[in-house]
This record gives sequence, C-alpha cells and structure tokens, in this order.
Amino acid sequence: MDISKLVKKQKDFFETGKTKDVDFRIESLNKLQESIKKYEQKIGQALKEDLNKSEFESYMTEIGMALSDLSFIKKRVRKWSKDKRVLTPLSQFHAKSFIRKEPYGVTLIISPWNYPFLLCIEPLIGAIAAGNCAILKVAEDSPNTSKVITEMIAETFPEEYITVVNGGKEVATELLEQKLDYIFYTGGITVGKIVMEKAAKNLTPVTLELGGKSPCIVEESADLKIAAKRIVFGKYLNSGQTCVAPDYLLLQNSVKEEFEKYLKEYIALFYTNEPLKNEDYTNIINERHFNRLINLIKGEKVIHGGDIDRETLKIEPTILDKITLDSPIMQEEIFGPILPIICFDTIEEVEDIILRGEKPLALYLFTKNKKVERDILRNISFGSGCVNDTIIQLATSRMPFGGVGNSGMGAYHGKYSFDTFTHEKSIVKKYNWIDLPIRYMPYTEFKLKLLKLFLK
Ligand code: NAD
Repeated sequence: MDISKLVKKQKDFFETGKTKDVDFRIESLNKLQESIKKYEQKIGQALKEDLNKSEFESYMTEIGMALSDLSFIKKRVRKWSKDKRVLTPLSQFHAKSFIRKEPYGVTLIISPWNYPFLLCIEPLIGAIAAGNCAILKVAEDSPNTSKVITEMIAETFPEEYITVVNGGKEVATELLEQKLDYIFYTGGITVGKIVMEKAAKNLTPVTLELGGKSPCIVEESADLKIAAKRIVFGKYLNSGQTCVAPDYLLLQNSVKEEFEKYLKEYIALFYTNEPLKNEDYTNIINERHFNRLINLIKGEKVIHGGDIDRETLKIEPTILDKITLDSPIMQEEIFGPILPIICFDTIEEVEDIILRGEKPLALYLFTKNKKVERDILRNISFGSGCVNDTIIQLATSRMPFGGVGNSGMGAYHGKYSFDTFTHEKSIVKKYNWIDLPIRYMPYTEFKLKLLKLFLK
C-alpha cells in the first residue's frame, strides 16, 4: 500500500467537506454500530484466538464497552457540534462571539494488542463524531482481531474516509512520517516518545495513552474481603495485560496475613485451583512476553500460583511476597498475572514509594479512613483511579480517561473523545453600525482613561 497516496486520498475527501456534516457523522456512527453488531461473533472468535478471551470477557471489556460509548456519543453529537455562544467583552461592543467545533482532518489512530478491538474502535468513534477521516494502524501482535477489524471497516466505509493499515514498526514509522492532522496513540511509553518526536516534526497534535506502574494500596481500615475480591478481578482480568491493572500491591503490615489469605481464596474461587486448565483464563499474547514474565517470577518468593503452561502461553495468577523496590519486578510495568506485594507500616511510607516513581496511569486505594483517602488523593498525581475498587473508572462515558506525566497526555471517552478530535475555533463577528474609536490612533489621555476603565 502506498501510504502517502492514502493520506492524500483522505485529505482530498476531507476537503470535500462531507465529514463536517453532522448528519453524515451520525449516519457513519450508525453504520459502525450495525457493523459491530454484525461482526460480534467474528470479533469474539478472533479475541479467543489471540488472547483466549471468553465470550463474556470479550463483550464486557471490548465489544460492549465500544457499543456503549458509541450510543452515548451518537445521542449527543448533534448538540456538541453546535456553535457555542459566549459573552463578548464590553470593549468589543457590538459583536457576537462563538466557538466553532471544527474537525482536525486526517487522523491516525495507533492501537495495541491487549484490548485490540476496543482500543482501536473507541478512539475511532470520537474521530467520526468530531467529523474527521481516520487511518487505523492496528496491532500486529493480535493478528486475528486486526484481520476482523480490517474486514469490518473495509465493508463499512470507503478507504478515503476510514481505513485500516496493517503492519508493524516499519509501517507505523511510515505513517508517522506523513503530514497528519492528529495522532492518537495507545501503547508503551518508549514508543509513545517516538510518536511524539515524529509528530513534533510536523507540529501534529497528539494524544498519548500510555502505561506504567499503577499502585494498589490496601490500608488496615479497608474492608479486606471486598478489597481482595476486587483486586483479584482487576489484576488477573486478561491475565494482567490491562494498562490500568493494579501493577503492585502496597499492603499494611498489620493486615498482611489476613489479606493474603483472602487474595488466595478469591483466586481459587474465580479461576479454580487449576487455573491453567480453566478454559476462560486468558493467555499471554506471545512467547516474548511469556518469557519476560517468567523471568520476573524466577528467584522470587512465590506465595501463590507460579505454574506455567508453555504450550498455551498461560501463567497462573501469581502472588510474590517479600518484594522490595530494588527487585527486578519493580523496575518495569509487569503487564501480566503477577502481583508483587510490598509491605508498609505507615501511610507516609506509601506516599514516599509512589512519589519516587513516575506519575502512574492509575491508582487504587482501599480504605475506610477519610483522612487517608483525602491525603492520598491530594498528594499523589495519577491519571485516574478508584477508592475501594479497581479499573472500573474507565467503564463510563462521563469521565475522561487518560494519563499524566509519563503515563500519557490527553484523554478520551464520551464527550472527551469528541473534544479530543475537535479544534475549537473562536470567532468574533463584529457588527458595523458602530465602531468604538478608543483603540485607534491617535492615543490621547482621555482614551487611556477609558481604556483603564475597560481593562482592569
Ligand atoms: P504494541 O506493541 O502493540 O504497540 C502499540 C502500537 O504501537 C502497535 O500498533 C505497534 O505497531 C506500534 N508501534 C510499535 N513500534 C512503533 C514505532 N517505533 N513507531 C510507531 N508505532 C510503533 O503495544 P505495547 O506497547 O506492547 O502495549 C503495551 C503498553 O501499552 C503497556 O505499557 C500498556 O500499559 C500500554 N497501554 C496503555 C493503554 C491506555 O489506554 N493508556 C491501553 C493499553 C495499553
């Protein structure tokens, strides 16, 4: 595929102005919605092949989430697209001021393999709603899902409007060399930096949805049973290959024994005592990540799980105890079903540990202590999070989802997706029946006095 020709084709199509029509956008969202429903089974099958996701998990975390955000946005896009009237300063009398919602043009969406359907389609919904064209660079490590997305999009939209590009680093690099109007990237931090560097060459704006180490704190006042249940859910879902999964556990010493007992109980309850034989348990995406994860377990104190199946690329839900900040597992984002535990005595220690690292994508705090809650939320910067739960902060169209610092920039979901792909163009429409003379030369004492009345 000739990428520069493709970009040119999309630019030409964008310039026809068709995508700016709100009816066209709503119709496109309708088409996408119908296609997702039509392809539901195929998408599920592909997710099973790539990651062994069960039908339930695929719907809960990918297909259903995309459909729900799509419905939310579709219902409101007409209202969001309207010009927004704002007051005009008296000094500009007589004029009307408004903000025009303008699409950027040709957008590039680069998506990863861990939620390969959702993380490609959800930004696309925002791009369509805002009136853009889009090129989707799907993940090469989840080939089955990428194939279904390619087929689905090709059947639904003409190439000059929305299209899928397959391939790895080389193709992504070629795409990033084009003069695009917006880049939306989801993936690791290292590549995120490359994307931003390339975007800078053309001054193309970017959203970076990155990762990092997201802490999960269990403080002694927490409801321990519920905390254990919700942490096991958030950590081992998709075998820990979730950007907002709790990466490591900060556990107060006073409740350590009891809490670890509950963690083990819930792992057994959810995944059985033989998780490797559980048909609904997801696998690690490929051998490279599988080997990387096994190395993180080696030499550590495993207090639960630890077994692996090289043939199916599955690793048991695993808990590691006696982990310190210097342990290898604390040097990188885990992105797998391994939960290291670091113990603490006072909540101040927790702040020290987290503030030593980069700003996390997510933070989870389990506590009933209002002061602890207030201090953690006030003193630590992170992308998003929960008090007394994990990962559900992103399952809503009403809140922005994104990182801060090393975990990313920009946000999306619901209205925030529309805003992300929209340029707000400010317009002052001046009337001609009066023309206040104050700003024009010659400047006089009197004019200066008047000016100081207006601008103070
Ligand atoms: P990945 O390897 O699938 O990479 C993501 C995309 O980047 C792919 O499409 C890939 O082809 C492309 N890519 C690779 N090299 C590139 C290059 N040099 N230039 C441009 N594009 C390139 O995904 P990954 O990086 O293994 O994903 C895992 C990471 O993504 C984790 O850190 C995770 O936390 C993060 N993540 C973040 C979110 C979020 O919403 N914030 C969601 C999912 C994953």
